[in-house]
Amino acid sequence: MTPTRAQCAARDAADPLHALRAEFDLPAGVLYLDGNSLGALPRRTPGHLARVVADEWGVGLIRSWNEAGWFHRPGRLGDRLGAHLLGAAPGQVVVCDSTSVNLFKVLGAALRLRPGRPALLAERHAFPTDLYVADGVGALRPGTRTVLLDSAAQLDAVLDAGTAAVLLSHVDYRTGELLDMAGLTARIHAAGALAVWDLCHTAGALPVELDAAGADFAVGCGYKYLNGGPGAPAFLYAAARHQEAARQPLTGWFGHARQFDFEPGYRPAEGVTRFLTGTPPILGLAALEAALQVWELADPTAVRAKSLELTDLFLELTADLDVEPVTPREHARRGSQVALRHPDGYAVVQALIARGVIGDFRAPDLMRFGFTPLYLSRADVHDAAGALREVLASGEWRDGRFARRGEVT
Ligand SMILES: *Cc1c(COP(=O)(O)O)cnc(C)c1O
Repeated sequence: MTPTRAQCAARDAADPLHALRAEFDLPAGVLYLDGNSLGALPRRTPGHLARVVADEWGVGLIRSWNEAGWFHRPGRLGDRLGAHLLGAAPGQVVVCDSTSVNLFKVLGAALRLRPGRPALLAERHAFPTDLYVADGVGALRPGTRTVLLDSAAQLDAVLDAGTAAVLLSHVDYRTGELLDMAGLTARIHAAGALAVWDLCHTAGALPVELDAAGADFAVGCGYKYLNGGPGAPAFLYAAARHQEAARQPLTGWFGHARQFDFEPGYRPAEGVTRFLTGTPPILGLAALEAALQVWELADPTAVRAKSLELTDLFLELTADLDVEPVTPREHARRGSQVALRHPDGYAVVQALIARGVIGDFRAPDLMRFGFTPLYLSRADVHDAAGALREVLASGEWRDGRFARRGEVT
């Protein structure tokens, strides 16, 4: 028996995380299942930003680099994020730049740590920017080639003494499949290669233990589950054991050992600071900081348990529909989204959006629904599944206006 809406609401009422819904400003009439693309707006963000603008910028002016702690903000926020959600001891995470740029830096560092090994392994179905960046970094080191895996399952067949580094997405952005970070990292290390993890669909979706898993480098997004706002700065993890030897290719003054000595030559700063490049976006960092305050109110283990409950519920409530779930059933292999295949998925998603149920679509035929336990309830999931059922039963998605594609899908 699938749960009724009343049963869902009763479970919500007993859930300590349910109160955090009030921390978010979501428009009335919207069921937001796209926090895996752009997280919702925390209520405290506008006020926090306004204070940073008025006080730290407006009044403090240039003095705020020292007095308001702007200078150390990429590392301070990185430490908080690392402690709360990434399982990273202090001094290994910085918040800066975009995921693409951070990936360029860590892949560049990884290749230099493994000279004489020509291959950079990546997944064929990785988020495309990851592959573009891998190619771009590889092109800077003669002889380097990107080798594409059909899936992580192929890893053992391809890994060898020629592998410098392996880039893997911890959670697949299309299917929501979750990989075994510790197990894969151990196999990569056994071949003498470095493991670079993309955590874009992990950070804020489920807690990870980067240190315990032995990860070498990782990057991830600030604007998805973390709720840092559109274009929020991303994060970068570099394991402490690599920092002294690591040289990243985007050598800018914020990564310099003596930035304000204005030396003509580059010398890398100590620690993870050497992975910074230029002036940090203080306003973007402020928005991410406000979001992180909300994250720090939530127990990450409870968030993960609720995420699995919400995705289980959605899979159960849509099991009899004419869609094909591509998200793994096993909890150990599932992130925090559900992807359903439908040949007209784009139009179905548009019809859902017209009803206020916001998911998204990834070509050629995947409808993606992200489940964010901080602001979604079981009753919301029940309503969203009901809307999908009605859209499919009525055929309303066949209306021509739902076939027109915007630039962002
Ligand atoms: C969202 C996402 C990115 C985004 O990169 P940006 O540089 O922030 O645009 C990269 N990789 C993965 C796996 C993603 O899901």
